[in-house]
Amino acid sequence: MKKYQVKISTSLDGLREANDLIRIDARGKGTFDIIVSKINLLKSIDYPIDGFSITITDANFSLVDEKVIDFAKSLGVKDVSMDFDLVRSINIPVEDCVHKIISLRRYAHKNGLNFYGTWETPYRILISNSWLSNPHAFCPAMEGKTIEFNVDGTLKTCGHTNTIVGRYENFDECFLPGSKYLEIISSRLPGNNDFCKGCEIEGCCAGQCHVTLESSKKDPSLVNRTCQLMKMATKALIREYLQSSM
Ligand code: SF4
Ligand code: SF4
Repeated sequence: MKKYQVKISTSLDGLREANDLIRIDARGKGTFDIIVSKINLLKSIDYPIDGFSITITDANFSLVDEKVIDFAKSLGVKDVSMDFDLVRSINIPVEDCVHKIISLRRYAHKNGLNFYGTWETPYRILISNSWLSNPHAFCPAMEGKTIEFNVDGTLKTCGHTNTIVGRYENFDECFLPGSKYLEIISSRLPGNNDFCKGCEIEGCCAGQCHVTLESSKKDPSLVNRTCQLMKMATKALIREYLQSSM
Protein backbone atom coordinates (compact mmCIF):
# COMPACT_ATOMS: atom_id res chain seq x y z
CA MET A 1 0.00 0.00 0.00
CA LYS A 2 2.87 2.34 0.80
CA LYS A 3 4.55 1.52 -2.51
CA TYR A 4 1.43 2.44 -4.50
CA GLN A 5 0.37 5.29 -2.20
CA VAL A 6 -2.97 3.62 -1.40
CA LYS A 7 -4.78 5.80 1.12
CA ILE A 8 -5.66 4.00 4.33
CA SER A 9 -8.50 5.18 6.51
CA THR A 10 -9.81 3.81 9.76
CA SER A 11 -12.60 4.22 12.22
CA LEU A 12 -11.93 4.83 15.89
CA ASP A 13 -15.10 5.60 17.82
CA GLY A 14 -13.54 7.57 20.66
CA LEU A 15 -11.10 6.58 23.39
CA ARG A 16 -10.97 2.98 24.64
CA GLU A 17 -14.23 2.96 26.62
CA ALA A 18 -16.27 4.70 23.90
CA ASN A 19 -14.81 2.70 21.00
CA ASP A 20 -15.00 -0.67 22.72
CA LEU A 21 -18.68 -0.23 23.50
CA ILE A 22 -19.60 -0.30 19.83
CA ARG A 23 -16.65 -1.37 17.67
CA ILE A 24 -16.05 -4.97 18.59
CA ASP A 25 -14.64 -7.98 16.77
CA ALA A 26 -16.47 -11.23 15.97
CA ARG A 27 -15.78 -12.52 19.51
CA GLY A 28 -17.19 -9.33 21.08
CA LYS A 29 -13.77 -7.98 22.06
CA GLY A 30 -13.10 -4.22 21.85
CA THR A 31 -10.89 -3.07 18.99
CA PHE A 32 -9.31 0.09 20.44
CA ASP A 33 -5.88 -1.45 21.16
CA ILE A 34 -5.59 -3.16 17.81
CA ILE A 35 -6.65 -0.06 15.83
CA VAL A 36 -4.19 2.17 17.71
CA SER A 37 -1.39 -0.38 17.35
CA LYS A 38 -1.92 -0.40 13.57
CA ILE A 39 -2.02 3.41 13.45
CA ASN A 40 1.36 3.39 15.22
CA LEU A 41 2.67 0.64 12.95
CA LEU A 42 1.88 2.75 9.88
CA LYS A 43 3.61 5.70 11.49
CA SER A 44 6.69 3.58 12.22
CA ILE A 45 7.06 2.62 8.54
CA ASP A 46 6.78 6.29 7.59
CA TYR A 47 3.32 5.86 6.05
CA PRO A 48 1.07 7.50 8.66
CA ILE A 49 -2.68 7.82 8.25
CA ASP A 50 -4.19 11.31 7.96
CA GLY A 51 -6.84 10.73 10.59
CA PHE A 52 -9.76 8.62 11.73
CA SER A 53 -13.57 8.59 11.66
CA ILE A 54 -15.74 8.52 14.75
CA THR A 55 -19.23 7.03 14.61
CA ILE A 56 -21.58 8.17 17.33
CA THR A 57 -24.42 6.05 18.67
CA ASP A 58 -26.62 6.31 21.75
CA ALA A 59 -24.05 4.13 23.54
CA ASN A 60 -20.87 6.19 23.11
CA PHE A 61 -22.31 9.74 22.70
CA SER A 62 -21.60 10.91 26.24
CA LEU A 63 -18.10 9.39 26.20
CA VAL A 64 -16.83 11.24 23.14
CA ASP A 65 -15.41 14.60 24.15
CA GLU A 66 -12.38 16.87 23.77
CA LYS A 67 -10.08 14.09 25.00
CA VAL A 68 -10.44 12.32 21.66
CA ILE A 69 -9.06 15.43 19.95
CA ASP A 70 -6.14 15.51 22.39
CA PHE A 71 -5.56 11.84 21.60
CA ALA A 72 -5.67 12.49 17.83
CA LYS A 73 -3.09 15.22 18.31
CA SER A 74 -0.86 12.91 20.33
CA LEU A 75 -1.05 10.33 17.49
CA GLY A 76 0.11 13.02 15.08
CA VAL A 77 -2.96 12.87 12.79
CA LYS A 78 -4.54 15.99 11.32
CA ASP A 79 -8.09 14.93 10.39
CA VAL A 80 -10.90 13.75 12.62
CA SER A 81 -14.36 13.14 11.22
CA MET A 82 -17.46 12.43 13.27
CA ASP A 83 -20.88 11.24 12.14
CA PHE A 84 -24.02 9.98 13.79
CA ASP A 85 -25.22 6.46 13.07
CA LEU A 86 -28.54 6.95 11.28
CA VAL A 87 -30.34 4.14 13.09
CA ARG A 88 -28.47 3.75 16.38
CA SER A 89 -28.39 7.38 17.54
CA ILE A 90 -32.11 8.13 17.64
CA ASN A 91 -32.25 8.78 21.38
CA ILE A 92 -29.85 11.73 21.28
CA PRO A 93 -31.70 15.07 20.89
CA VAL A 94 -30.63 16.79 17.67
CA GLU A 95 -29.76 19.95 19.67
CA ASP A 96 -27.23 17.88 21.66
CA CYS A 97 -25.74 16.47 18.46
CA VAL A 98 -25.23 20.00 17.10
CA HIS A 99 -23.80 21.20 20.39
CA LYS A 100 -21.27 18.33 20.36
CA ILE A 101 -20.35 19.07 16.73
CA ILE A 102 -19.71 22.75 17.40
CA SER A 103 -17.78 22.33 20.64
CA LEU A 104 -15.51 19.58 19.25
CA ARG A 105 -15.01 21.49 16.00
CA ARG A 106 -13.95 24.60 17.89
CA TYR A 107 -11.58 22.60 20.07
CA ALA A 108 -10.09 20.75 17.09
CA HIS A 109 -9.50 23.98 15.16
CA LYS A 110 -7.88 25.57 18.23
CA ASN A 111 -5.50 22.61 18.25
CA GLY A 112 -4.73 22.78 14.54
CA LEU A 113 -6.82 19.73 13.50
CA ASN A 114 -9.50 19.47 10.83
CA PHE A 115 -12.87 18.31 12.10
CA TYR A 116 -15.67 17.45 9.74
CA GLY A 117 -18.57 15.12 8.99
CA THR A 118 -21.54 14.71 6.68
CA TRP A 119 -23.33 17.41 8.68
CA GLU A 120 -20.88 19.94 7.22
CA THR A 121 -21.63 19.24 3.56
CA PRO A 122 -24.55 21.70 3.01
CA TYR A 123 -22.56 24.45 4.77
CA ARG A 124 -19.43 23.71 2.70
CA ILE A 125 -21.48 23.76 -0.51
CA LEU A 126 -23.21 26.97 0.55
CA ILE A 127 -19.95 28.86 1.01
CA SER A 128 -17.98 27.43 -1.90
CA ASN A 129 -20.37 26.63 -4.75
CA SER A 130 -22.93 28.41 -6.87
CA TRP A 131 -25.28 27.03 -9.48
CA LEU A 132 -24.44 30.18 -11.45
CA SER A 133 -20.97 28.77 -12.07
CA ASN A 134 -21.22 25.02 -11.51
CA PRO A 135 -23.91 22.37 -11.09
CA HIS A 136 -23.31 20.59 -7.81
CA ALA A 137 -24.92 18.23 -5.32
CA PHE A 138 -24.50 17.00 -1.78
CA CYS A 139 -24.24 13.43 -3.00
CA PRO A 140 -21.35 12.61 -5.38
CA ALA A 141 -23.53 9.90 -6.94
CA MET A 142 -26.02 12.60 -7.87
CA GLU A 143 -23.21 14.59 -9.48
CA GLY A 144 -22.47 11.56 -11.65
CA LYS A 145 -19.09 11.10 -9.94
CA THR A 146 -19.53 7.57 -8.62
CA ILE A 147 -20.78 4.29 -9.99
CA GLU A 148 -20.45 0.81 -8.53
CA PHE A 149 -19.84 -2.36 -10.52
CA ASN A 150 -21.29 -5.36 -8.70
CA VAL A 151 -20.33 -9.01 -9.10
CA ASP A 152 -23.88 -9.82 -10.26
CA GLY A 153 -23.42 -7.46 -13.21
CA THR A 154 -25.55 -4.63 -11.88
CA LEU A 155 -24.48 -0.99 -11.70
CA LYS A 156 -25.45 1.09 -8.70
CA THR A 157 -25.16 4.81 -8.09
CA CYS A 158 -22.56 4.30 -5.36
CA GLY A 159 -21.11 1.56 -3.17
CA HIS A 160 -23.64 2.15 -0.40
CA THR A 161 -26.95 2.44 -2.21
CA ASN A 162 -29.44 -0.17 -3.37
CA THR A 163 -30.40 1.85 -6.42
CA ILE A 164 -29.63 -0.13 -9.58
CA VAL A 165 -29.17 2.03 -12.67
CA GLY A 166 -28.17 -0.55 -15.25
CA ARG A 167 -25.97 -3.51 -16.12
CA TYR A 168 -22.34 -3.52 -17.12
CA GLU A 169 -23.10 -5.11 -20.55
CA ASN A 170 -25.05 -1.96 -21.37
CA PHE A 171 -22.80 0.49 -19.59
CA ASP A 172 -23.09 3.31 -22.15
CA GLU A 173 -26.89 3.20 -22.02
CA CYS A 174 -26.73 4.25 -18.38
CA PHE A 175 -25.84 7.77 -19.42
CA LEU A 176 -28.32 8.29 -22.26
CA PRO A 177 -31.25 10.69 -21.97
CA GLY A 178 -34.21 8.83 -20.49
CA SER A 179 -31.99 6.36 -18.57
CA LYS A 180 -32.75 5.50 -14.95
CA TYR A 181 -29.50 7.14 -13.78
CA LEU A 182 -30.24 10.47 -15.47
CA GLU A 183 -33.85 10.29 -14.32
CA ILE A 184 -32.73 9.92 -10.67
CA ILE A 185 -30.21 12.76 -10.94
CA SER A 186 -32.82 15.01 -12.54
CA SER A 187 -35.43 14.18 -9.90
CA ARG A 188 -32.94 15.12 -7.19
CA LEU A 189 -32.07 18.59 -8.57
CA PRO A 190 -33.20 21.62 -6.51
CA GLY A 191 -36.77 22.44 -7.50
CA ASN A 192 -37.53 18.93 -8.81
CA ASN A 193 -37.67 17.03 -5.53
CA ASP A 194 -41.06 17.34 -3.86
CA PHE A 195 -39.63 16.12 -0.56
CA CYS A 196 -37.22 19.09 -0.39
CA LYS A 197 -39.30 21.85 -2.01
CA GLY A 198 -39.31 24.91 0.23
CA CYS A 199 -36.66 23.63 2.66
CA GLU A 200 -34.39 26.49 3.74
CA ILE A 201 -31.26 24.61 2.65
CA GLU A 202 -32.73 23.03 -0.47
CA GLY A 203 -30.11 24.49 -2.83
CA CYS A 204 -27.08 23.28 -0.91
CA CYS A 205 -28.50 20.00 0.42
CA ALA A 206 -30.85 18.97 -2.38
CA GLY A 207 -31.94 15.69 -0.89
CA GLN A 208 -28.67 14.82 0.95
CA CYS A 209 -27.22 11.29 0.80
CA HIS A 210 -29.22 8.98 -1.44
CA VAL A 211 -28.85 6.17 1.12
CA THR A 212 -30.64 8.26 3.74
CA LEU A 213 -33.51 8.83 1.33
CA GLU A 214 -33.65 5.08 0.61
CA SER A 215 -33.79 4.35 4.36
CA SER A 216 -36.57 6.89 4.73
CA LYS A 217 -38.84 4.66 2.66
CA LYS A 218 -38.62 2.10 5.49
CA ASP A 219 -38.75 4.62 8.33
CA PRO A 220 -39.64 8.27 7.43
CA SER A 221 -38.69 9.46 10.94
CA LEU A 222 -35.03 8.66 10.22
CA VAL A 223 -34.82 11.08 7.32
CA ASN A 224 -36.78 13.76 9.20
CA ARG A 225 -34.23 13.54 11.97
CA THR A 226 -31.30 13.76 9.54
CA CYS A 227 -32.95 16.76 7.86
CA GLN A 228 -33.28 18.46 11.24
CA LEU A 229 -29.59 17.77 11.93
CA MET A 230 -28.54 19.13 8.52
CA LYS A 231 -30.57 22.32 8.97
CA MET A 232 -29.50 22.99 12.54
CA ALA A 233 -25.84 22.17 11.87
CA THR A 234 -25.79 24.42 8.78
CA LYS A 235 -27.22 27.34 10.77
CA ALA A 236 -24.78 26.77 13.63
CA LEU A 237 -21.83 26.63 11.22
CA ILE A 238 -22.95 29.86 9.54
CA ARG A 239 -23.07 31.49 12.98
CA GLU A 240 -19.55 30.18 13.71
CA TYR A 241 -18.34 31.59 10.41
CA LEU A 242 -19.90 34.99 11.00
CA GLN A 243 -18.56 35.20 14.55
CA SER A 244 -15.03 34.29 13.39
CA SER A 245 -15.13 36.99 10.69
CA MET A 246 -16.15 39.77 13.05
S1 SF4 B 1 -25.41 8.03 -1.73
FE1 SF4 B 1 -24.47 8.78 0.16
S2 SF4 B 1 -22.68 7.45 0.37
FE2 SF4 B 1 -23.31 7.30 -1.77
S3 SF4 B 1 -22.18 8.89 -2.89
FE3 SF4 B 1 -24.12 9.78 -2.24
S4 SF4 B 1 -23.61 10.81 -0.31
FE4 SF4 B 1 -22.00 9.32 -0.70
S1 SF4 C 1 -32.58 19.01 4.80
FE1 SF4 C 1 -34.01 17.42 4.14
S2 SF4 C 1 -35.71 18.54 3.21
FE2 SF4 C 1 -33.98 19.94 3.36
S3 SF4 C 1 -32.96 19.79 1.36
FE3 SF4 C 1 -31.94 18.37 2.76
S4 SF4 C 1 -32.98 16.41 2.43
FE4 SF4 C 1 -34.27 17.99 1.57
